[in-house]
Amino acid sequence: MANKIKKPFKIHVKRGDTVLVISGKDKDKRGKVIKALPSEGKIVVEGVNVVKRHTKPRPPQFPQGGIIEKTLPISSCKVMLVCAKCDRPVRVKKQLAPESNVNGYSKRYIRVCSKCGEEITNPNDSKRK
Ligand SMILES: [Zn+2]
Repeated sequence: MANKIKKPFKIHVKRGDTVLVISGKDKDKRGKVIKALPSEGKIVVEGVNVVKRHTKPRPPQFPQGGIIEKTLPISSCKVMLVCAKCDRPVRVKKQLAPESNVNGYSKRYIRVCSKCGEEITNPNDSKRK
């Protein structure tokens, strides 16, 4: 039986994460996630999938015309998260944060590196607190 419910894409990386590209023309490149597009399952990574567009002069944004570099989104499954601690591309485990209380009211999950067990922190996480 086919499951007709459309699942939202799940992206394993967030904005601000450092990732390693594991396939495609930018393989082995590292970069920071600038933007996440969960509805498309894609992310924009700094310096990855940069294309050159030849444009005519188009004022006021591009009065000169010429070559413009643009970063296009790539599929999030093409990247692996890089752990800041062990400096390697790693898998991420989900773990209940130690400060979560048992009633489940302040349940918070943290991302943990599967290799060194260190929490993977993201500069954007602290903003929400
Ligand atoms: Zn690690």
